[in-house]
Amino acid sequence: MKVKAAAKINLMLDILKKLDNGYHSLFMIMQSVDLYDTVSVEKNNEKKIIIKCDTDGVPCNEKNIAYKCAVAFFDALSITDRGITIGIEKAIPMAAGTAGGSTDGAAVLYCLDKIYNTNLSIKELCEIGAKVGADIPFSLVGGTAIALGTGTIIAPVKDLPECYIVLCKPEQDVSTPEAYAEFDSLNRVRHLDRISMVDAVADGDYEKICKLCGNVFEQAVEVPKRPHIKGVMRKCGADACVMSGSGPTVYGIFSNKENAEDAYNKLSKKYDNVYLCKPAKHGITEV
Ligand code: ATP
Repeated sequence: MKVKAAAKINLMLDILKKLDNGYHSLFMIMQSVDLYDTVSVEKNNEKKIIIKCDTDGVPCNEKNIAYKCAVAFFDALSITDRGITIGIEKAIPMAAGTAGGSTDGAAVLYCLDKIYNTNLSIKELCEIGAKVGADIPFSLVGGTAIALGTGTIIAPVKDLPECYIVLCKPEQDVSTPEAYAEFDSLNRVRHLDRISMVDAVADGDYEKICKLCGNVFEQAVEVPKRPHIKGVMRKCGADACVMSGSGPTVYGIFSNKENAEDAYNKLSKKYDNVYLCKPAKHGITEV
């Protein structure tokens, strides 16, 4: 079985508090974009989980998020026949804040439910995925959604109005745990206007959404190239420029295709990982 697994950006990411268990309570507005990894899953006779990936740096072992999701699925359903081969073709940049690993994990959960005829609901799959990572439930649902708690509460909202989204990942890897540690050490946090954002996404109000987009990780995670990337995007007419997740990817939202192409072309001259995307309506799609 083969699926496309979408990347995400955070239209808003606010961190409410650190919980006693070490996790953080989050308020996020999530948006899938049409940048996809391709994930295949098939049964094998080796009696073990095998990972094959076309990209250097992705762990092809039990550290892979796709592997962890497969184990979580088998454990949750007490399945002992665990011989599967997972193939991952990466298009989503790694350690970028765009849920590259999480979406591969979500894809594996989706495929295993079909292959093993377990007929789980999306809610049940999300519960299994949430044990592995905070972005996995959203990656299963996709589209535009509010995500709360540790990412486990997902409320889909109106699709983002048609627009163009340019992603630019500077040459820097950000570790998510380190980003949280930086955030926890801040003396003062400027929180975001979450209530107005709920209104804006409920109405699908493009202008208001763009005005309210934000990410508190920008106060904690240093990305030296961020001002330059944002400057180029703004000059090209971006309606919003914000970092996604714990970074370092910066996205720009454009209502106009030519302006988005202009930003894409200018940034591509300076950076290797630049993508011109559109909002996607689904997280996982069969191919
Ligand atoms: P998120 O937005 O969910 O925090 P991210 O874009 O910041 O995701 P990932 O691309 O998921 O980060 O990668 C983080 C690390 O996880 C990588 O450095 C890599 O070693 C490891 N990893 C494990 N599984 C995968 C996978 N399937 N694809 C990419 N990286 C993976």
